[in-house]
Amino acid sequence: MSARWSDRQQAMLREMGVTLWLPPQTDAMPLPEAAMSEPVPSEVTAPVPAQAPVASPAPAPVRMSRPVAAPAEANSPSAPRPLAARPSGVAAMDWPALREAVAGCEACGLCRSRRNTVFGVGHAQAQWMIIGEAPGEQEDRQGEPFVGKAGQLLDNMLRAVGLTRAEAGPEQQVYIANVLKCRPPMNRNPEPQEVAQCEPFLKRQVELVAPKLILAMGRFAVQSILQTGEPIGRLRGRVHAYHGVPVVVTYHPAYLLRNPVDKARSWDDLCLARAVLRGGGPVPA
Ligand code: URA
Repeated sequence: MSARWSDRQQAMLREMGVTLWLPPQTDAMPLPEAAMSEPVPSEVTAPVPAQAPVASPAPAPVRMSRPVAAPAEANSPSAPRPLAARPSGVAAMDWPALREAVAGCEACGLCRSRRNTVFGVGHAQAQWMIIGEAPGEQEDRQGEPFVGKAGQLLDNMLRAVGLTRAEAGPEQQVYIANVLKCRPPMNRNPEPQEVAQCEPFLKRQVELVAPKLILAMGRFAVQSILQTGEPIGRLRGRVHAYHGVPVVVTYHPAYLLRNPVDKARSWDDLCLARAVLRGGGPVPA
């Protein structure tokens, strides 16, 4: 078969829910060199014993600062819960301290409407780190990222390149986190000061995981971590960096559910990410 995708790649695309239209001719555009040269695993390989599952020992005490609201306001029965400064020392925290700091954070108004904070899940030394935007309703209820419909598509996308969120070794089990740890009410767009308060938690997660590659999903996550206003369409296909870690950007699974035609582009992004991770792709500028 000499169409754009090999039989095996077509099988992977089908796994992601992509319906392929294949031209009867054989002169379609080839895939980029790096993606073509790498074999695509047809299923998740046998799990390697986890080397370092996410730590859950007794959390160290977290220093929280005093509330910042004026006392008169704080005493009024109808006043909103006062906010507090973000816990100090985030940059040096270990996993348990970081997890506790996120769980108790009251540094922005999202703490008033959240049911749960959504810290992140996965292998503590994962090679791949997936970064999304913010918890939605299901994530807020369950305290875990990407558990709704978009999460199911994310799982399929990961499976298509031999990755999983289930327990496995650091090559296969990813770490998944969001830019924001609390759900914005009605899934509205995050506000800049919410991102500013939350970003140090993400930065510390990236430092602790030390992934070989970050896959940033969706306009908001991409623009937040790359500090840019450029649209995804202009950022795709290149390798960026976040605190020294190569970043490949792609569409958010929720967007792909609404725009399935772009799943093929997202497959290209996954291939680029895999090539970068295996040392065959472009390095960040
Ligand atoms: N969308 C995200 O970006 N993150 C989630 O955890 C869920 C939906």
